[in-house]
Amino acid sequence: MVRTRFAPSPTGFLHIGGARTALFSWAYAKRHGGKFSLRIEDTDLERSTPEAVQAILDGMQWLGLDYDGGEPYYQTRHMDRYKEVIQQMLSEGKAYHCYCTPEELDVMREAQRARGEKPRYDGRWRDSQETPPAGVRPVVRFRNPLDGEVAWHDLVKGRIAIVNAELDDLIIARADGVPTYNFCVVVDDWDMGITHVIRGDDHVNNTPRQINILRALGAPVPQYAHLSMILGDDGQKLSKRHGAVSVMQYPEEGYLKEAVLNYLARLGWSHGDEEIFSIPQFCEWFDLDHITPSAAQFNTEKLRWLNQHYMKVANNDDLAKLTEPFLLEMGLPPAPPETVATIVGVLKDRVHTLRELAASADYFFRRVTPSDDLKTRHLNPKVNEALGALKEKLKDIDIKEPAEWSVYSINLKITEVLEKHKLTMPALAMALRTIIAGRSQTPPIDIVLQLIGRDEVLARMDAYLAS
Ligand code: GLU
Repeated sequence: MVRTRFAPSPTGFLHIGGARTALFSWAYAKRHGGKFSLRIEDTDLERSTPEAVQAILDGMQWLGLDYDGGEPYYQTRHMDRYKEVIQQMLSEGKAYHCYCTPEELDVMREAQRARGEKPRYDGRWRDSQETPPAGVRPVVRFRNPLDGEVAWHDLVKGRIAIVNAELDDLIIARADGVPTYNFCVVVDDWDMGITHVIRGDDHVNNTPRQINILRALGAPVPQYAHLSMILGDDGQKLSKRHGAVSVMQYPEEGYLKEAVLNYLARLGWSHGDEEIFSIPQFCEWFDLDHITPSAAQFNTEKLRWLNQHYMKVANNDDLAKLTEPFLLEMGLPPAPPETVATIVGVLKDRVHTLRELAASADYFFRRVTPSDDLKTRHLNPKVNEALGALKEKLKDIDIKEPAEWSVYSINLKITEVLEKHKLTMPALAMALRTIIAGRSQTPPIDIVLQLIGRDEVLARMDAYLAS
């Protein structure tokens, strides 16, 4: 059975790169009816924080990436196991104690540099018969093979081979007994039965060391797929400006989870020309063969475009619920859900995020003062006269029958006024937009008037005409 894992170190938020790694690992397991685990690599006690763990859990939850057992696997809860494996390796001669002091290692490296060699541990305690110095607590080093090479067929990058002579004997436990990062990864991948390691290619250098340790333990070696990094919009390394932000910033900015997931899915993976697809569809299609080995470039415009698509196709009631917090954040009064649903329905085609949707909806909920510039452009005595006439006509519409205040009846009145006052529709519509909505762009004006309601429309017209 396929078993994958996402193994973040909780030292910051879950950013776009991590979220994509998580999505690919999750989808691969789904695709093959396997299991996906979340492993929190929290052994670095100085850098790991509970807030960062929470940020990862929140991000996974928002994206809907569920993991085996609903409980993460915390490395700090498995310390005894790592120590047990270290003892076993020591007793089998697969690892050994090294008593070099940090000063000694510095001298060693300096000498190597001076000779033009790559600094590395020279293996002096590997087969040493010397009596250990008193008072020095040893580290434990892995006895890396000296000859041959370690090679694997990377499912994204193809064959990668490293000669063992390049690898020195890795420290697997520090002097204080704490197992090191690479070692914990190996024991966990083994214990968790991981079959496919899908992770960022910043770990390519760790892989040959991890494979050597797995082999020494007699553990199966998983397949590896190293995902290339993600560049920002400008082709530079992803920074806070473009996407290296927490994934949780996307809901805050008004992105829908479907859009973010669809976007992440296409970030370095493709299925023909398909751009828009659901997550169940993605899980059916996802494979490791179609991951691009080259770096993927983040494209904010494309994410916005996808978000617009998912807003357009969303059910208006659902969209209203998602928009509500943004409306409240703007200080707009709460409105009945049906009203909000109708309003978002007429506005959603024109915006890219929920936040923009809310911002474009303000005039439905409160009076907005038009700028002087807008007034100068669209209002003049001739238009004012027509507005006065229209107001009287709108007043005649009988609202005891709510259905009478309809787009049809409003239009009829507008047409009568246009004919009588020899005005064009755009001229009157722009004037109405200015005084009713305080802006020059709105959905069709008859729809806007209908949604705002007769009394409020008349009040806004009165306020303007009386000023
Ligand atoms: N903990 C590592 C990280 O956050 C990932 C290790 C792995 O996937 O093997 O980058």
